[in-house]
Amino acid sequence: MYKLNTIPNSDLRSIRVIDNKEPLVDLRKICPQLVFNIAKYIKKNGGGKAIIDAHYARSDVARRLNQAQSLLPGGFKLMIECAYRSPLMQQKSYDAVYKKLREERPSWSNKLLEEEMDKRVSTVDIAPHCTGGAIDLTIVDQHERQLDMGTQLDEFTEKTYTESPSISSEAIESRNLLKKVLSASGFINFPAEWWHWSYGDREWGYHQKDKTAIYGQSER
Ligand SMILES: [Zn+2]
Repeated sequence: MYKLNTIPNSDLRSIRVIDNKEPLVDLRKICPQLVFNIAKYIKKNGGGKAIIDAHYARSDVARRLNQAQSLLPGGFKLMIECAYRSPLMQQKSYDAVYKKLREERPSWSNKLLEEEMDKRVSTVDIAPHCTGGAIDLTIVDQHERQLDMGTQLDEFTEKTYTESPSISSEAIESRNLLKKVLSASGFINFPAEWWHWSYGDREWGYHQKDKTAIYGQSER
């Protein structure tokens, strides 16, 4: 079985954050080539402001998304499902997922439940989307149809692990394309979710030599 290798939350909490105070910008304005399709869970748990928030990211993230877009083959586009999330929205998402998981797994201990939660939603203090540095995204073709990535975005099965061997070769190829353009633009991936990429946050800081993040929690 494929062994998932994520960074423990305790390690993420120990990452130093020196926020460079870059502003949150509207990706619809800065990245007009991208497609926006805000995720269902944002609409369900958040409503109006959360949907608008989800189009915002730090300015250098926007620049890097444009770079990644320019590396895609003709006709293909990055499709954004969620960028910035307010701390309030993050807490709502955490509570909703926790409640659902608790109902699905009544026999699980709190410890097991929390381990599973670490793979699904971050606690507010270290939440990547609250920094404006994290993006949930996929690729669409010239007809704005999503490429086959092996699962839907925001499904939670072992197939959502970026390196899962149990998806079709077509899906592996699509994930490789996403990996190629985002890695080349400085983003790093959260290994439990093929769709989650970030720049500048704690997860990114963990991979830097000086173990320092440049984006902390942000408000808009
Ligand atoms: Zn995400």
